[in-house]
Amino acid sequence: MEQYDAIIIGAGASGIMCALNATAKTLLLEASDRVGKKILATGNGKCNLTNDNLNIQCYNTPLVKPYFDQFNNEETLQYFADLGLFTYADEAGRRYPLSNSANTVLDLLLCALNLKQNVKTVVNAMPLSVERVNNGFVVKTQNQTYVGRKLVLATGGNSGTQYLQQLKVNYQSSRPSLVGLKTTKNKGLAGVRVSNVRVQGNGFDEVGEILFKEDGISGIVIFNLSAHLARKKISTGQITLDFLSGIEINKLSTMLQSSIQHHPKYLMADILEGFLHKSLARNILEKLALNQTMAKDLTIDEINTLVATLKHYPVTVTGFADNYQVHTGGVNLLDLDEHLQHRQVRNLYCIGELVDVDGVCGGYNLQWAWTSGKIVGAVL
Ligand SMILES: Cc1cc2nc3c(=O)[nH]c(=O)nc-3n(C[C@H](O)[C@H](O)[C@H](O)COP(=O)(O)OP(=O)(O)OC[C@H]3O[C@@H](n4cnc5c(N)ncnc54)[C@H](O)[C@@H]3O)c2cc1C
Repeated sequence: MEQYDAIIIGAGASGIMCALNATAKTLLLEASDRVGKKILATGNGKCNLTNDNLNIQCYNTPLVKPYFDQFNNEETLQYFADLGLFTYADEAGRRYPLSNSANTVLDLLLCALNLKQNVKTVVNAMPLSVERVNNGFVVKTQNQTYVGRKLVLATGGNSGTQYLQQLKVNYQSSRPSLVGLKTTKNKGLAGVRVSNVRVQGNGFDEVGEILFKEDGISGIVIFNLSAHLARKKISTGQITLDFLSGIEINKLSTMLQSSIQHHPKYLMADILEGFLHKSLARNILEKLALNQTMAKDLTIDEINTLVATLKHYPVTVTGFADNYQVHTGGVNLLDLDEHLQHRQVRNLYCIGELVDVDGVCGGYNLQWAWTSGKIVGAVL
């Protein structure tokens, strides 16, 4: 039986950050064969590690504020700079390593972790059970029994719930978020990207680039819509897309009529190609049965219907895609104190995605992992 001051279960972004800041004798247990694997997949392999605009409204709950008051994005960047990481921000404030490689972020975290003499890391170690005893916690893996005075759960979204159940801790069940949406078939649109699309539905209203798939839609604005729907526990319904969000409806109507007047012998497909992607133009005209119509033959009603469709293209959402980035749900912040210690189960700490905190795309989720890991590490 090995004894520790603290045991951290899960060596992802939050668990590593926590271990790096611990000064007590600490054990870091990781179920997979290497630590920090998921970091490598973040930001399309570039790792969008935080955002210069740390807006609380980008999270599902304002309760995160006191935690960011303890360790914010600027302090995170300073922390990484001290590890030797140089970064840049894009036009949306998203921070990436200068190398544009998530490997750099993980490598520098691991350089620092390897120098920590008080932290022992064990991979391929998935606890089978976690039990509360008088003076702490007993954690059993297949090969070993560990005892820790403090226990930190840093398992990410879904996998730590078995331990929460064993410790009789309440949590909100999880739902996938930041994910593409499944839709009814998008005929001829697979692979088509459209910028500046206004996406509206169920109280969501945002402009961004979308990518069509054969039976789905994706892109940052759609990921953010999925977060909005996940929080409302909705996964199906109707949304609308405004493909020409920069042009007000009357102006668009005038522009379309003017183009028709100038090119009466064009097919409508050719007219519409002056406004948007060819495949999208065809898709819309087919839906309206106008694909073979000559410009001069279009009635005023048909023009109005066409304009309305361009501004309010209906899409039926049938569910969430499978490759989600985060989970909503987890342990409620109201059940945790300012150090993320559980109010009922003393010496138990929850960090990262296992806490009911989730942000929109843009580095906000990793920022929560760094912040929560740092806060708990500081009290170990
Ligand atoms: C493809 C993808 C891209 C993303 N891109 C971004 C991005 O660019 N910016 C951003 O802010 N966020 C991004 N995210 C979200 C971000 O990665 C997570 O919010 C963040 O990693 C959460 O950190 P965590 O420490 O809570 O969990 P994780 O990073 O998931 O780490 C949990 C660790 O615990 C281990 N573990 C799980 N169960 C057990 C167990 N029972 N015993 C022992 N170990 C266990 C896991 O193997 C893992 O190593 C992305 C997510 C994905 C999937």
